Amino acid sequence: MPTVSIRKCPSYGEAERAIMTAIDDLGGMTHLISPGDSVLIKPNMLGAYRPESNVTTHPDVVRAVARMVLDCGGRPVIGDSPGIDPFPLVSARTGIGEVGKTLGVPVLPLTDSIPVAAKEGGKFRKIELSRIAVESDKIINIPKMKTHCQMTLTLGVKNLFGTVVAQRKAEWHYKVGLDRDVFASLLVEIWDHLRPCLTVMDGVWGMEGRGPSNGRGRHFGIISASDDALAMDQVLSPLMGVKERDFPLLRAARATGKILEDVRKSGDAIAPFVPRVDLPKSDSLRLLPSWMDRIGKTFLSSRPTQDVKKCIGCQKCVQVCQARAINMGPDKVLSFDYDRCIRCYCCHEMCPVDAIKLQKGAILRVLDLLGRG
Ligand code: SF4
Ligand code: SF4
Repeated sequence: MPTVSIRKCPSYGEAERAIMTAIDDLGGMTHLISPGDSVLIKPNMLGAYRPESNVTTHPDVVRAVARMVLDCGGRPVIGDSPGIDPFPLVSARTGIGEVGKTLGVPVLPLTDSIPVAAKEGGKFRKIELSRIAVESDKIINIPKMKTHCQMTLTLGVKNLFGTVVAQRKAEWHYKVGLDRDVFASLLVEIWDHLRPCLTVMDGVWGMEGRGPSNGRGRHFGIISASDDALAMDQVLSPLMGVKERDFPLLRAARATGKILEDVRKSGDAIAPFVPRVDLPKSDSLRLLPSWMDRIGKTFLSSRPTQDVKKCIGCQKCVQVCQARAINMGPDKVLSFDYDRCIRCYCCHEMCPVDAIKLQKGAILRVLDLLGRG
């Protein structure tokens, strides 16, 4: 039976001790990593954000995990595939590059990908994942505890989407289109292919509101560890106030028979530890038949718009949009083709200055007024 440990950790100064205790609750690192194992440590390196932005995994958490792998005789590399920002900048700004330097552990962009064989009963015929992720003996997944505008939350399983290399992430968003449940099925299949031996959640500081990059920092004060990333998501999501039916990832896991009926919980913070998390309001497109997509897009979904005053003209939104729905005109003014837009919100996620706003459709606004949005 998988175990999820949740340990109190008020500050990053106490992270190493909390991580060690949480991993001890699973049987200890030596139980997970053997001498000589090649180990991919996969933090959240979404973009070139400083640790205090609470977007990426804190370097103290990465350092503690990498040290423990080295102590077990493992051969770690730290790697991720950021959305748009160049890897050297991401590595420097997040502080994770410095961790690698001081420990002598390579910090690498995941660039090369290979196809993985389809799972029996899987929805997707072909998925390409990072070669290092597929070929490493072990993967240690180190997500950041955050809300997510498209998927409600990003926890253990979603962090593995970073093993889809570079622009292929946006291509997947484009392929699966509006349907969050299809995208959630993809995330569950990726997790099922990779099955990290350990997931360590950086929940000391996380994010609420318009995550994963434009929300507010939130002090959760915990570190969690599990030998099963899906089990972690099952345990943490209700503690953050999200029911299974409102979390696409768990709906997809349930639909494919992957949900875990028995999970052992351990640690000193397994009671609800957060008073109330400000969740992003979700759209209701999944409830509509496909022939109503267009109506749904207009009235039931939120659409991206530009805050021209905040925009710095970097064009990251234009680059990430696989639907080619954004153009930049004179004076940095963006125009959106809402017929082409698939509401993936990658532009919102990638904007470094929160200049992409999500404007609710008319019906969502009415539901909000009625207190049901
Ligand atoms: S405009 Fe934004 S939300 Fe729409 S498809 Fe492009 S990246 Fe996705
Ligand atoms: S909206 Fe954001 S991502 Fe797009 S050009 Fe402006 S600053 Fe860059």
